[in-house]
Amino acid sequence: MTRAILWFRNDLRVADNEALHAACTAHDEVLPVVIIDPKQHGARPFGFERSGPFRRRFLNEAIAGLDAELRSLGSCLRVVVADPAEALQQLVPEWRAVAVYAQRLYGWEEQEQERAVASRVALHLLAPNTLLHPDDLPFPVQRLPHVFTAFRNKVEKQWAVREPVATPARINTPEGWGGGAEHPALPHEPITEDQRAPFTFTGDRAAALARLNHYCSGPELLGSYKLTRNGLLGSDFSGRFSPWLATGTLGAREVYRAVKDYEAVHGANESSYWMVFELLWRDFFQFTAAMHGRDLFLRHGIAHKPAKGDHNTRRFEAWCEGRTGQPFIDANMRELAATGWMSNRGRQNVASYLVHDLGIDWRMGAYWFERMLIDYDPCSNWGNWQYVAGVGNDPREGRRFDAVRQAGMYDPEGAYVEHWG
Ligand SMILES: Cc1cc2nc3c(=O)[nH]c(=O)nc-3n(C[C@H](O)[C@H](O)[C@H](O)COP(=O)(O)OP(=O)(O)OC[C@H]3O[C@@H](n4cnc5c(N)ncnc54)[C@H](O)[C@@H]3O)c2cc1C
Repeated sequence: MTRAILWFRNDLRVADNEALHAACTAHDEVLPVVIIDPKQHGARPFGFERSGPFRRRFLNEAIAGLDAELRSLGSCLRVVVADPAEALQQLVPEWRAVAVYAQRLYGWEEQEQERAVASRVALHLLAPNTLLHPDDLPFPVQRLPHVFTAFRNKVEKQWAVREPVATPARINTPEGWGGGAEHPALPHEPITEDQRAPFTFTGDRAAALARLNHYCSGPELLGSYKLTRNGLLGSDFSGRFSPWLATGTLGAREVYRAVKDYEAVHGANESSYWMVFELLWRDFFQFTAAMHGRDLFLRHGIAHKPAKGDHNTRRFEAWCEGRTGQPFIDANMRELAATGWMSNRGRQNVASYLVHDLGIDWRMGAYWFERMLIDYDPCSNWGNWQYVAGVGNDPREGRRFDAVRQAGMYDPEGAYVEHWG
């Protein structure tokens, strides 16, 4: 009889979960744990905490949902608030486990966690939540093309998205496992719901699947995604899958399969292709993080270029609170503050405005997004910020958006600005 610990990270689901599948295949008993590293939620150089109320609530809901899923399979979740290496070093001998299984992650801190854990216990790392399995890329991750188009051209020539791994029918977990941290695991200040929010996100898998089904079942939404994806107002101009993808409540391959199912019924079109194209962007930033490690989080970026920008608190706080005086920027920042989410068009504009108009160090904006976004993902967030700041993998120099022009194009009637005004 052998036991293994399953360290859940950004893969908070039981379906198509490679680490869970591997642990259940190789061992008789599996002990599932989520470890919240306080360092990743605490204060940072610019003075504010790294996770705010919306992100904490969403994560708490995802964790509670995972516990419920595990219970339906005869298991249960333990939640620990601690440094992962220390926690696992203690749990492995205490529970006579022979190994730890986990999903590999590409953020720099996450890579450091893996190295620390592997130095203390036997750690088996399985594939990250990417559309393409890293082993199926037509080049080693360390030889990733610098520019997205080159990456896409190469991978699209040799396309392979793996089939899902089986969900265990039952998970044997010893008596007494489970519980752990106080619930909720990530305490936060109360949230007042804003009546202007066009959509309510909840972190559990049922909500993720409901959204996937809503968006991909008929031609109205996915079928016109390419035309609507730059929208700002309303709930259905884009998939809104990102928060569940970031926590791993939803797998990238699950979104891909929903698109393929849609195409089997309604036929492929530019819009259904474009959803997969966006998932490739997501993969591109994941593999970029794997290749560049710590540079993704440093001021000079992966391009090793000098970055402009100061740390002026007055200008930065005006941006955070949506009172710069630029109505389009302020509307987007107010939506973020009130809901924990913002459209892609909005993100590009507010990031450009912070860096190129307000002259602030881009990392302050990246940390603010890390705090605020319920879909915060280290690779997507820091990769996109570097892109806008001109220190990442954008072939063009410093991508500045003209907020007045952008508002004219994407909010011609001013309805979005009025909504969040
Ligand atoms: C400054 C900045 C910071 C960002 N920070 C994050 C972040 O922390 N987490 C995050 O998930 N996305 C981030 N994005 C990317 C993008 O804005 C969001 O993924 C997208 O808005 C999520 O909405 P959606 O799910 O409706 O996307 P859809 O338009 O429906 O796209 C489908 C999926 O494709 C992926 N995707 C789309 N665009 C991008 C992109 N530019 N980069 C990476 N993946 C993409 C997402 O997983 C998304 O869920 C950031 C973009 C910018 C400009």
